[in-house]
Amino acid sequence: MNKKTKWLILPPHTFVDHINASKLFLYNTETSSNHLITDDETISLIIELQQSYNLGSKIYSEEGSCNVYLKELISRDLLQLVEAKEKPIVFLPILNLQRDLEKGELSYRLSIMGSKTKFISGLFLYIDKPFVPDLANINNIRINAIRQSLLYGLTDDCELIMGIEKVKMIFKSLAITSISIVDIISSISILTDANLSQLVRLASNYGYKIRIHTFIDNNNTDRVLKIMAQHKSIELSLYFDRYSEFDYQQFSSKSSKITTQASLIKYVYSAFDFVDSDNIDMLPVYRADEVQMFRDNVFLTKQDILSNCTSMKEIMRNQKLNATCFGILDILSNGNVYPHGGRVPVSNISNKNYLLESVTSELVNNQSWRVTRDKNNCSNCQYRFICPPVSLLELQIEDIKACIL
Ligand code: SF4
Repeated sequence: MNKKTKWLILPPHTFVDHINASKLFLYNTETSSNHLITDDETISLIIELQQSYNLGSKIYSEEGSCNVYLKELISRDLLQLVEAKEKPIVFLPILNLQRDLEKGELSYRLSIMGSKTKFISGLFLYIDKPFVPDLANINNIRINAIRQSLLYGLTDDCELIMGIEKVKMIFKSLAITSISIVDIISSISILTDANLSQLVRLASNYGYKIRIHTFIDNNNTDRVLKIMAQHKSIELSLYFDRYSEFDYQQFSSKSSKITTQASLIKYVYSAFDFVDSDNIDMLPVYRADEVQMFRDNVFLTKQDILSNCTSMKEIMRNQKLNATCFGILDILSNGNVYPHGGRVPVSNISNKNYLLESVTSELVNNQSWRVTRDKNNCSNCQYRFICPPVSLLELQIEDIKACIL
């Protein structure tokens, strides 16, 4: 009978990140156990295991039993030891995209890409200010909140209102995209009942849904409740802040009787703005003089990063694109088009091929869609592909770090 041999295996659930020549990070996608390796001998061994001729396994030499790093990796189920008569074959996950823009010359890769407008999967459409104008400083605070959370390209002076005919034209043009939801940013008073009915009809003809982002206060509560009751297919994201005169408890009790999907969101400018309510989502807005609030409530801790497993699929995605922004366009009321999270317009709706022009420009210039953590100030961090995708705030403030590590 053939004798069994001890094999060292790199299991398919282990993600290996070569951060640089002297830093290798191993992460178990099923348990989130992980280890950073800086020992040259162990790094060489992992690289050997990854070679295609080794098929993820190597005979375990007795010298290996003296390597403390190796023992640690085995105890964390980042490497495995098995006994088998024949060499185990491991199918290691490899990132190999057919349409990888980084593989070869960019203009050639773009030319063979096929339908680029099918990459468009979301749209933020700014029709007009979603709040009733107040004192200039309050307007600026709110514009800044909207830029951080929804539309980076929004300029302070965007006073134009987009007419309903233009909105309808945009809706029609989206037929060549993969959009399923159109996010509309507008004050609720601009959208008349007739306009809303037209938009709902048009949207359902093309098979997408509408989500309206607007501020709510005591003056427009009844109108919002009426829309909720009459247009159940419309989703509502309803914002308020410390300057809004708004009785959210009364609204919550009235709206709970209607089955429309609506969420209440409070912009938080300082710790003082937090409210203790299960019905309200808190949305902190970054301000240089309120960094501590972000450190206490928003920035990631090591425990946040490792408490949930990041799947191999998510890690592969995080290496190639920014899931917060990829495929999404922003259109302002002046017709300018931006990649979501981008600040420089890539086209205008007055151009016949504005959708194709926008996608092509973003794929070439990469303002946001493909900004990954190996391309920003996280590039040397071991968690660069485990952490959530780059946020709108990080795209806006380049030297910010979204963690307290
Ligand atoms: S430096 Fe970047 S990648 Fe590393 S933990 Fe912080 S946010 Fe995540």
